[in-house]
Parts: sequence; C-alpha cells; structure tokens
Amino acid sequence: MSQPDIPFPQSPVLPTMLAETHEIEFSCHKGIGCWNACCSNIDISLTPYDVLRMKTRLGMTSTEFLKEYTVPYEFDKDSIAGIKFRPVEGGTACRFMKPEGCDIYTDRPTACRYYPVALLSMRRQDEYVDRDSYAIVKEDHCMGHEVNRRITIADYRKEQGLEEYDELARGWRQLVLKKKSSGPTIGKPSLRSRQLFFMACYDIDRFREFVSTESFNKLFDLPQEEKAVLLADDVALLQFAFRFLRQVLFGEESIALNAEAAQERLARVQEKRLIEEREAAKKRALEAEQDFADDAD
Ligand code: SF4
Ligand code: SF4
Repeated sequence: MSQPDIPFPQSPVLPTMLAETHEIEFSCHKGIGCWNACCSNIDISLTPYDVLRMKTRLGMTSTEFLKEYTVPYEFDKDSIAGIKFRPVEGGTACRFMKPEGCDIYTDRPTACRYYPVALLSMRRQDEYVDRDSYAIVKEDHCMGHEVNRRITIADYRKEQGLEEYDELARGWRQLVLKKKSSGPTIGKPSLRSRQLFFMACYDIDRFREFVSTESFNKLFDLPQEEKAVLLADDVALLQFAFRFLRQVLFGEESIALNAEAAQERLARVQEKRLIEEREAAKKRALEAEQDFADDAD
C-alpha cells in the first residue's frame, strides 16, 4: 500500500485528477480474496496528526513512537523532513497487520484511510491555500475495485473519517507545500530549522517540553492561560506548532515576541552578520594578496 504525492509513469496511480464529486467503484471487506494484501507491502508516509493518534492509542510518548515505529525521510533532498512507517523486521508488512485485520483500525493513518484514493494537494507559489484533488490507485492485487459499490470520493472521505484527519494536518500540508513551491529562492534550510520542523511536526511531546523552557518563555510573549491550554491538549499544541513554524521558517508573525528578548535576539543576529561580513572581507583580501603575488612571479 503506497500513497505517492503525485502520479508518475508506471505507477499504480491513475494519472487523472478527480474532484470530490467523482464516483469510485470500490469496497474492502473482511473475507475478500486479497484480505491484508495491501498491508503486507507498505510504503506509508505519516502526517503529524497520524502520529498523535497512534502514540495516544499505544500509550507512548511521541518520542518513543517515532523511535519504535517510524523511519525518517526527506520530501526533497536536504529539505523537508518526513516520516514513514517502519515495516516488520526484515520484511515489508505493517507491524499492525493481524490476520483479522488492522490492529489499530480506529486510529489507522491517513494513507490507510484514503486507499485506494490518493490525495493530491497543490498550491500556487506564495499561497497557503492548497487545492485538493484526488487520483485513484489501482494495484493488481486489490480486488476491492471489482466490488459493485459506487460511492463519491466526498462520501468515501466521510466514511473513512478523513475530514478530521485532513483538517488537523492541514497546517502541516500547507507548510510542506509552501516550502516545496518556494524552491531555491528561500534556499536549503539549515540543519537547525530542519530539526525544529521535525520536532514541532512529529515529536509533539518534545515540542511540549520546548514550549515549557525558559528560553521559549523569554522569547515569546504567550499569555499564561493560552499556554496552559496548549500544554494540556495535544491537538491544540499541534495547531500551535504549525503557527510557530510559519513564524520561524517564513517570518509570518502570529505569536507575540517578548520585546526585550526580541531586541537582544536582533542584536545577536546583527553581530553574527557583522562577524560573517568581516570574515568574508578578510578572505577576499587574502585572495587578492595571493593573486597579486602570483602576478608578480
Ligand atoms: S496501519 Fe493498519 S491499515 Fe494501515 S497498513 Fe498497517 S495494518 Fe494496514
Ligand atoms: S480490497 Fe484492496 S484495500 Fe481491501 S484488503 Fe484487498 S488489497 Fe487491501
């Protein structure tokens, strides 16, 4: 079972972009000849809300969940951090697959809910508004396409509980799309900003610790009541994490800065820039000196 971002030649994703009103012919039910075939060979990307649901279900922290059940990957090389399910040791099957079906069915991830539909989110440059369309994934082993049940994609999304999943991961999808479409103009993000993105999006329990630190308090002027709500509620904290990332990665300020700390921070940035400029000037002078000496020889 896989859910690529975009259709490409040779892929099982049929390259037609479909609207929510499109009717598909599909049904998956226990007893079907291909039962569990899709969960036996997985390539499943997870959203931040998927992590939140599964770590809560399993009674783990997000840090423990990530270590145990996921592998990191990058959407674009050295760019945006993503995570995928880690299959069973030495195999390709999902670790939650049981003979009777999915062991975490009510908390299964977005990609499992969508299958055999693929969500294609797109956005125009410098827009946060993403436009959803869909494609159909047709894999030879999946007999669900032969079952005579017609349902619109909109109703299928409702049936699979996807409205909530998509809504609560929307902020993350928009960040990924914005980064992808900004391309080389913003440049390769630093290791620090990639780590920050990973923590805020996927490791919600570490992000909670980060929001509780002295340095966060010194920098951001977050009202105590608002902070208490965030710290007590994973879903609210996740939505705040997306806001936080928009601010630190794209400069879209929505969280008030503590005036004194902001001033100190600005001074530090200016000092760092000054040092870099001095170093660059020193380097240029040395190179010019070397060229002059070479010419004299
Ligand atoms: S989480 Fe459940 S539905 Fe998804 S691949 Fe694993 S067993 Fe299958
Ligand atoms: S019908 Fe498709 S989705 Fe359902 S078990 Fe078979 S392969 Fe998986």
